[in-house]
Amino acid sequence: MPKKIAILGSTGSIGISTLKVVQKLKPAFQVTGLTAYRNAKELARQVKLFKPKVAAILDWKFFPDLKALTQGTSTQILAGEEGLMAVAAESGADLVLSAIVGAAGLKPTLVAIQKGKDIALANKETMVMAGEVVTRAARKSGSKILPVDSEHCAVFQCLAGSSSPKEIHKIILTASGGPFRNLDKKHFSKITRKDALNHPTWRMGPKITIDSATLMNKGLEVIEAHFLFNAPFEKIDIVIHPESIIHSMVEYIDGSVLAQLGTTDMQIPIQYAMTYPARGNSPVSRLDLARIGRLHFEKPDRKKFPCVDLAYEAGKKGGTYPAVLNAANEVAVSRFLNDEIPFTHIPKIISNTLGRYRPLTNGTLDGILRADRWAREEASKH
Ligand code: NAD
Ligand code: MG
Repeated sequence: MPKKIAILGSTGSIGISTLKVVQKLKPAFQVTGLTAYRNAKELARQVKLFKPKVAAILDWKFFPDLKALTQGTSTQILAGEEGLMAVAAESGADLVLSAIVGAAGLKPTLVAIQKGKDIALANKETMVMAGEVVTRAARKSGSKILPVDSEHCAVFQCLAGSSSPKEIHKIILTASGGPFRNLDKKHFSKITRKDALNHPTWRMGPKITIDSATLMNKGLEVIEAHFLFNAPFEKIDIVIHPESIIHSMVEYIDGSVLAQLGTTDMQIPIQYAMTYPARGNSPVSRLDLARIGRLHFEKPDRKKFPCVDLAYEAGKKGGTYPAVLNAANEVAVSRFLNDEIPFTHIPKIISNTLGRYRPLTNGTLDGILRADRWAREEASKH
């Protein structure tokens, strides 16, 4: 029997890589559901190729296009938030790959968890915003959350050798350092959208690429690791590793450090989340350490990249603070991508929004969504 998989955000960078993995693992996987925001053309191409039971497009404006382009297929075509929820919860999937970008991924991912589906989680914003809600729901429904983010997939694998959380001294997340690692801070105000979209080691969607340039991506990943591995923030460290060959490490109390290595290809962590606990063959290019020759490491420059400390602070405060951090960041990144603000305003907007935040709401889903809305409004104003 093939494993049934639904992909939320199938037209994005992770979504497309996942479909490549599905194709390679055929007939072990069957796609039951696909979703996209607006890209009806790509979604229709996928529908024809993978014949899912159901496909949904968020924006109703593109529903007629999708209908027309998929005419003659047996796939049920839906739209809007309800459409996405139906794919997440009712497409008959055993595994839901959550690859929507940003806060929009939270509700469909949570619904899938509540239905007891296993989750392959790429959408880190869900964990950042609502880590407690999500992990509690998973414990209740018995759904497994398998990390797709390369660092967390690495940590997950390095933890396989541990018999108790007490044995863990540190989780060490590696970071490429992004395109501005060696750029003097005095040039930061002149950074253009094109400069920031030019990531040195990974090809990804625009939002995470900007997050990698500000190092907020690593900040979000620290919070993601805190919830995924139930680790205190004091035990989560970051080391800059420009080659992105070591994807992360776990240091044990006896001084042993375990690392997971691989080429910079997201198909590796995606496939591991899909086949876990088994491993399958993959035609990805092999790691050739002798050819690479040297690996480098350095401390992150927290003055140059204030987003790192902003994330640790919001994470330590807990409650709805990480949701505010996340929402302010999403707004700031989208304003930067629209050429409304300079690069250096991204951390300022986040810091100001966090500074003005008075948590009135608790950490329930409703409270989190209210904090998210408040932060979006606040971050758009200044
Ligand atoms: P992307 O922009 O390439 O794709 C995003 C997908 O989500 C698309 O299918 C898009 O149609 C859909 N989408 C966008 N906005 C939406 C909305 N408001 N409602 C519903 N659907 C929406 O992004 P990506 O690079 O594939 O990243 C997806 C997620 O995976 C992000 O959370 C990112 O942080 C995480 N991630 C990505 C990578 C990577 O290599 N790309 C690595 C690790 C983690
Ligand atoms: Mg990552």
